[in-house]
Amino acid sequence: CGIVGVTGNDNAVKILVNGLQKLEYRGYDSAGIYVNDQHGNDYLVKEKGRIADLEAKITPAVHGSTGIGHTRWATHGVVSVDNAHPQFSQDDRFYLVHNGVIENYQDLKSQYLSDVPFKSQTDTEVVVQLIDKFAVEDNLNAHDAFIKVLSLLEGSYSFLMMDREKPDTLYVAKNKSPLLIGVCDGYNVVCSDAIAMLNETHEFLELMDGEVVTVTPMHVQIEDQNGKSIERNPFHVDMDA
Ligand code: GLU
Repeated sequence: CGIVGVTGNDNAVKILVNGLQKLEYRGYDSAGIYVNDQHGNDYLVKEKGRIADLEAKITPAVHGSTGIGHTRWATHGVVSVDNAHPQFSQDDRFYLVHNGVIENYQDLKSQYLSDVPFKSQTDTEVVVQLIDKFAVEDNLNAHDAFIKVLSLLEGSYSFLMMDREKPDTLYVAKNKSPLLIGVCDGYNVVCSDAIAMLNETHEFLELMDGEVVTVTPMHVQIEDQNGKSIERNPFHVDMDA
């Protein structure tokens, strides 16, 4: 299972699909991408089976400059298109990919989301619906809603989240699951394993548990749990794609 993301490159679809192909060796049962072109067009494509099956569903119309992609190894919910990631909120605003397991998702669902219609059986959908709930009801921006939800979670995760209202931004966090930011020339990528993005860059920033990272085409902002910003230099991965 794996995660990929990109922001600031008009070939986002290709970069995501190539990245997912590089992660195939890890095993998975379904895959999906969400891309946004910054001009009000966005596309969600998910499929069971191989990356080739996902690719067959990606029509020429599907395009964007920012996006997220996922290969799923089901832990909660059967293998189905609805349970594949990205998962999204009921108002189609927030899109989330997740590797790992949220242990307290049932508690969170019954405590906060009993009135929300769910489309999937995944633990992941609880997270994205909760982000949306806090954004709407507490009037929080995506960044603050994301942090509030992270503080409630128990389990392991790497997350990559997008907000349709700020479609050039990737919100990133991890706990006990790997995640890297790849620094490129004029754009940035995110991946759970450097191998996915070696066609784009060899310069990667390692993320630590508890950090919250905001990635735009020209900027990577790393914060610790208290919102204090962290400087970190990329390391060079000396390996061929
Ligand atoms: N727990 C999530 C699910 O079952 C993510 C699984 C994964 O790591 O791929 O959908």
